[in-house]
Amino acid sequence: MDNSYDIAIIGGGILGLATARGLGERIPRARLVVLEKEAKLATHQTGNNSGVIHSGIYYKPGSYKAKLCVEGKGLMLDFCQKHGIRVDHVGKVIVATEQAELPRLQMLYERGIANGVPVEMIEPAQLREIEPHASALRAIRSPSTAIVDYKEVCAAMTRELTARGVAIETGAGVTSIRRRAGAIELVTPRAVVRATRIVNCAGLYSDLVARMAGAKVDVRIIPFRGEYYMIRPERQDIVRGLIYPVPDPEFPFLGVHLTRTVHGEVEAGPNAVLAFAREGYRFGRVSPAELAGTLAYRGFWQMARKYWRTGSYEMYRSLSKNAFVQALQRLVPALRPEDVTRGGAGVRAQAVSPDGSLVDDFRIVAEADAIHVLNAPSPGATASLAIGRHIAGLAVETFGLK
Ligand SMILES: Cc1cc2nc3c(=O)[nH]c(=O)nc-3n(C[C@H](O)[C@H](O)[C@H](O)COP(=O)(O)OP(=O)(O)OC[C@H]3O[C@@H](n4cnc5c(N)ncnc54)[C@H](O)[C@@H]3O)c2cc1C
Repeated sequence: MDNSYDIAIIGGGILGLATARGLGERIPRARLVVLEKEAKLATHQTGNNSGVIHSGIYYKPGSYKAKLCVEGKGLMLDFCQKHGIRVDHVGKVIVATEQAELPRLQMLYERGIANGVPVEMIEPAQLREIEPHASALRAIRSPSTAIVDYKEVCAAMTRELTARGVAIETGAGVTSIRRRAGAIELVTPRAVVRATRIVNCAGLYSDLVARMAGAKVDVRIIPFRGEYYMIRPERQDIVRGLIYPVPDPEFPFLGVHLTRTVHGEVEAGPNAVLAFAREGYRFGRVSPAELAGTLAYRGFWQMARKYWRTGSYEMYRSLSKNAFVQALQRLVPALRPEDVTRGGAGVRAQAVSPDGSLVDDFRIVAEADAIHVLNAPSPGATASLAIGRHIAGLAVETFGLK
């Protein structure tokens, strides 16, 4: 490994790659390296998500999520077209199944309009034309929501970056960071890499990497597993596109939904269950050290106090297939427990503040020689190319590189 660079990017998920792309566009002469701890890129959040290109309905107008999702969606569609990556424009419906959800559905509709997203409020008869098996009192139709395989996007980004001379090193987990003689030294199992600046895109480990780099970090990443079921092939015709519930306004997750994939499957999920390891893809996967770290964090107990009811229900629904299917039956009453089989899981890197609140917006912190991405949950994949550009802008401002 050649080991002197202007900027080292830690983490080879979609944000690390999109950041390398953004930096390459803004600072073409910069020597860049992406360091990824796994043998393959996009192994964690990026490779285990729902594959939705979100339109930007949900997010508070003016937030980074709203701005970067809408901008990122356009960039993602252009990127996919340029690289011949399959995108299916299946559209989505958000269905209100109880009276109490109608004001929240209206609020989402208004947010969609405020964010400049095409949205339409529809009645049950119109819904039946779009999704004949879905049930609702009223629904929002989002025609511009699409699906893609983000692993294919990452493979294309990697080819592009490699062709531009960006070094991409796998099996290169950063285990410690020290500053020496004006350089930052990143210790990996393969070599010590030197860089004058770093960008931390380490996802589930981003808070720990930031601390390793000496940053004062006021949040902790708490891992939330999202488990999926798969609809059996012979029943997949009960979903044409994407069917979502009205989300709980207190919770930054969207609620279990039904999602087609570009590979022709239909997934149900993901739920949001506290994981006992940062990469805890199964219920039984426990990291005693990481769990102890979570339990020692004041914000975890504050969060547990606020969300114990929702958290206990999520845990119960994780263990009970019937409870999971019941949640889906609110969207599609014809779905039966025998129509679904257990699928995979992803783990979300959710930043939690010391007061127990789940950080809602993207959080990206710039310091003199480092930028840390401390919260980039959904729609992080949709927004990735816009986040990469945003980080490149921050790098020009704070690092003074041109
Ligand atoms: C279940 C689920 C469903 C989702 N659905 C959607 C969706 O449909 N649409 C959407 O837009 N978004 C979705 N998201 C969110 C989206 O996947 C994330 O916002 C996005 O993948 C974040 O990318 P990342 O690069 O920050 O994280 P990651 O993909 O997790 O990448 C971080 C990388 O850093 C590496 N790393 C960690 N520590 C180190 C270290 N010390 N040294 C070197 N490397 C390190 C990891 O191995 C990993 O590869 C979903 C997320 C989940 C979990």
